[in-house]
Amino acid sequence: HAKDAGRNRFSYYSPSMQEHAQARLQMGTDLRTALAEGQLSLHYQPILNLANGEVFKAEALLRWQHPALGEIPPTEFIPVAEELGLIDAIGSWVFDSAIAAVARWRTLWPEDDRANCPLQISVNASPRQFTGGRSIDGLLARLEALGLPGHCMAIEITEGMLLDKHPAVAAQLSRLAAAGVPVTIDDFGTGYSAMAYLKRLDIDTLKIDRSFIRDLTTDPGDLAIAEAIIAMAHKLGIRVVAEGVETLEQQSRLNDAGCDYSQGFLFSRPLPEAAFFELIARYRP
Ligand code: C2E
Ligand code: MG
Ligand code: MG
Ligand code: MG
Repeated sequence: HAKDAGRNRFSYYSPSMQEHAQARLQMGTDLRTALAEGQLSLHYQPILNLANGEVFKAEALLRWQHPALGEIPPTEFIPVAEELGLIDAIGSWVFDSAIAAVARWRTLWPEDDRANCPLQISVNASPRQFTGGRSIDGLLARLEALGLPGHCMAIEITEGMLLDKHPAVAAQLSRLAAAGVPVTIDDFGTGYSAMAYLKRLDIDTLKIDRSFIRDLTTDPGDLAIAEAIIAMAHKLGIRVVAEGVETLEQQSRLNDAGCDYSQGFLFSRPLPEAAFFELIARYRP
């Protein structure tokens, strides 16, 4: 706002900083309303098993339909929710909704075979949910109350969470492992963690960050990194998902490198529940 610059020349905050802080507080207020009034929903992005073409896994991705502003992407509102202390409540809502969804999907399996149902929803968690808050307790209690096995969920965390060596994080990860809930490291390769945690902690899956997949077929360095991640993970008994797969060429390179799963716009964008349900109904044996 160039025309405001003169007026605010002597104020401590620039107008844009004030506006930014106000917008963030307003977003926090709107998020509380969103949670109370059902403006949040989950979309589900299928995860393709490259070895056999099956689609029994999906990542739950949060969507916010703001009544006045339209859809606001999670990359905008999640950081605000984290900053304003709303992420544990939102995370609990996400966990509960994902569990309810997978419970609905499991009914596609006959009751006497439901124990073998391979459907799994992978849910993103923020650091705060591991270092305080009630959402992990809530998740475990809800699974137990519904008699659901831990493997119908997976929790995605980023490497950065393991960096600060908060004892609470390791303790929560052990609780999840004990309950059979697999842990995935999201955006792998972009953080600064020492990889020692891969053998120390019970990690089920690595997701190769989209930034290495984007130029996989033209940048030999990116291909080398993806291949090295896959080889290392497999030696440690860890499975690998490539995220952001947009072309067949990328997918076939990943397949050649032995990557286990592919997630990206090539196979499917994140889908509303009804569309995802139709898709898995088609893949059911
Ligand atoms: P993420 O966990 O790494 O999720 C993958 C993101 O990549 C999603 O963006 C997805 O729509 C996008 N994506 C998938 N395939 C492709 C592709 O082929 N090309 C491109 N360009 N993008 C692709 P989305 O849904 O906007 O989510 C962004 C981030 O927001 C997520 O990154 C995650 O960090 C965060 N997020 C989303 N939902 C939640 C949630 O429920 N809780 C928390 N704490 N964070 C969430
Ligand atoms: Mg994720
Ligand atoms: Mg990711
Ligand atoms: Mg990513």
